[in-house]
Amino acid sequence: MNKKTKIVATIGPASENGEVIEKLILAGVNLFRFNLKHNDFDWHQNTIKKVREIARKLDYNIGTIADLQGPEVRIETFEGKEVEIKEDESLFIGPTTNSNKTITLNPKEVISSLEVGDTAFIDDGDLELQIIGSKNGVVEAKVEIDYIIKNRKSLNILKKTIDLPLLSERDLVALEMIPKIDPDYIALSFVRTKEDIETLRSKLKEIGATSKIIAKIENSSAINNLEEIIKVTDAVMVARGDLGVEVAMGELAFWQKRIIDLSRKYNKPVIVATQMMQSMVHNYHPTRAEATDVANAIFDGTDALMLSEETATGDHPFKVIKEMNKIAEFCEKNGVAKSIELKLDSTTEVLVRAAANIIKNSGQFPIKAIIVFTESGNTARILSKYRFKIPIVAVTNNSDTVRSLALSYGVMPLIQEFPENQFRMEDPIFKKLINFEFIEKDDNVLVIHGNNWMTAGQTSDISLIKV
Ligand code: PGA
Ligand code: MN
Repeated sequence: MNKKTKIVATIGPASENGEVIEKLILAGVNLFRFNLKHNDFDWHQNTIKKVREIARKLDYNIGTIADLQGPEVRIETFEGKEVEIKEDESLFIGPTTNSNKTITLNPKEVISSLEVGDTAFIDDGDLELQIIGSKNGVVEAKVEIDYIIKNRKSLNILKKTIDLPLLSERDLVALEMIPKIDPDYIALSFVRTKEDIETLRSKLKEIGATSKIIAKIENSSAINNLEEIIKVTDAVMVARGDLGVEVAMGELAFWQKRIIDLSRKYNKPVIVATQMMQSMVHNYHPTRAEATDVANAIFDGTDALMLSEETATGDHPFKVIKEMNKIAEFCEKNGVAKSIELKLDSTTEVLVRAAANIIKNSGQFPIKAIIVFTESGNTARILSKYRFKIPIVAVTNNSDTVRSLALSYGVMPLIQEFPENQFRMEDPIFKKLINFEFIEKDDNVLVIHGNNWMTAGQTSDISLIKV
């Protein structure tokens, strides 16, 4: 398989079955996302175990992401019943509920941050509320359309920072399970500042977890602190579901491009998420707009694409991956991802630039793959930035490096034991790559390594090798 854009599939009832998991991996899924908002923790533990067993059997490197809920706001209706509201009627939001069109919020502290003039949304942005009054701790809001409000739907407030604890009660329980399931990545929802990332990082250290952190950019605070968040996180997600509501839908494409550009600048893998193939939750084909959206994210320079309902609860998870994979393969081969400024402020960057020149000017000796021996994964991530049309195989004996490369465009991480402090080309690597159809016998490959390649930052040599 030659696809370079990584595909993240959210796992759920539609995809939890072992046979489906295997089919999805073979069709192009690189990572599975476990959304801790849903299902009980036993389910997550068992399913992550199942994914790993299948990946091992197939000899594929499949990453795992545990997605924490973060400071999310939900509404609660009177006795959990539906509230029917008509255009121009008032909806009341107070500390308690009653049958008279009064709902409450969870967590309740949020109610006091709603002020006259604010715009809020219920149910992923579906119902818009204008806050028009506030009396005795009860807020009055006008709605624009007739709507049936269901219990436990989401509430978002436009361009407003709410002072809530970073981790929900459910997240704190989930964190206890994290060392047991040891996911490759932990996604943090509704990140607001770089301190949020640092807080999670020290929590993970406390509990002995080595998972990498994905910052989900999904509100205006994260947009305001974008660059400093990207600098400290390990990876980034353009969480369009909530971002589209919290910064206004018309701004979404602009922010998607900005987040991708900054992530690439700081060498952090980035995922574009939500509604990429939404119509395929039921339909058998994507719409033109969806096919174009997937392609455009690749041309924007994203590392990975994510599916949510499409693979978690949708009718055709396998077909969704096949369609996405097809678009990715074609666009990677025929298109050009947006270029970014490439720095030369480390010797590794100089070396990678030289490798890029060799690849470009290889004349009658076309280079079919880059094999990089890496300790920290840094050389592989810099190579990934160039968006080469050939695969980058990152060979390492560090399992932490393998997990940190799972999201990087065009990089296939490969774990291999090597003699300490000594570079020696091992034949089995080529055999493995031939088996995976990455290369063929007699192909030219570029090998990047250091004399002392097991020391991070010691990459120094390039060799052109005929397999
Ligand atoms: P979610 O995050 O699916 O956990 O809400 C992604 C998004 O908001 O786009
Ligand atoms: Mn979200």
